[in-house]
Amino acid sequence: MMKLNNITKVYGKGSLEVPVLHGIDLAIEDGEFIAIMGPSGSGKSTLMNIIGFLDYPTSGTYELNGEIINSAKESALAKLRNEHIGFVFQQFFMFPRDNALKNVASPLIYAGISKRERTERAKQMLTKVGLEDRMKHLPGELSGGQKQRVAIARALVNNPTIILADEPTGALDSKTSAQIMKLFTQLNEEGKTVIIVTHEEEIAAYAKRIITIKDGMITDDRGVVAS
Ligand code: ADP
Ligand code: MG
Repeated sequence: MMKLNNITKVYGKGSLEVPVLHGIDLAIEDGEFIAIMGPSGSGKSTLMNIIGFLDYPTSGTYELNGEIINSAKESALAKLRNEHIGFVFQQFFMFPRDNALKNVASPLIYAGISKRERTERAKQMLTKVGLEDRMKHLPGELSGGQKQRVAIARALVNNPTIILADEPTGALDSKTSAQIMKLFTQLNEEGKTVIIVTHEEEIAAYAKRIITIKDGMITDDRGVVAS
């Protein structure tokens, strides 16, 4: 489980300081399916980046499975990220000259896994997201929904416990968005902790718990599980 205690984040220094998060307290149990909502600029992406070890809080503590990790070194954070986190973004972030299979296999290169096993695992993940017939396609030859499925397969390839998705349907039409949300629902049913950021009520409705953030503070938390 994850526990954020009085987390703050300030970007910049001196007269250029931008305070963004103002004391976030949040406990997330394994296996939850959470949507984070809130206006543009309210600090949603900043919070996701801290949860996913892409950024450090300015103050406060972050515990993962009972260990305080926000004082950890970058190398230790990178290890935690690799073991626990799969990230999905609105803009997909594919390597444009690599086919779907290579894009999905790419995180495994840094994990030091043999090429044969990388390819095998990437094939399994693309099959899981329903793209077994698109493995050799380049990103430019795929629809938005297919690109997001490739991105989800890539997020899954390290077998993370937590999937973080920052506006994963922001660039998709509503029918495609629904298909992507069904895929996140399936992953959650299989045991993954899933946390998504969205602007849209219909998208948030797929989650079991909805957290609202305004001006860097949690203003609402519905459907929280009793612990
Ligand atoms: P959201 O995802 O809710 O739209 P963000 O977390 O991206 O909000 O941003 C919250 C605030 O922090 C915004 O005012 C944004 O301009 C600012 N901000 C985000 N990233 C940085 C950064 N790297 N440096 C300075 N300010 C930033
Ligand atoms: Mg954002």
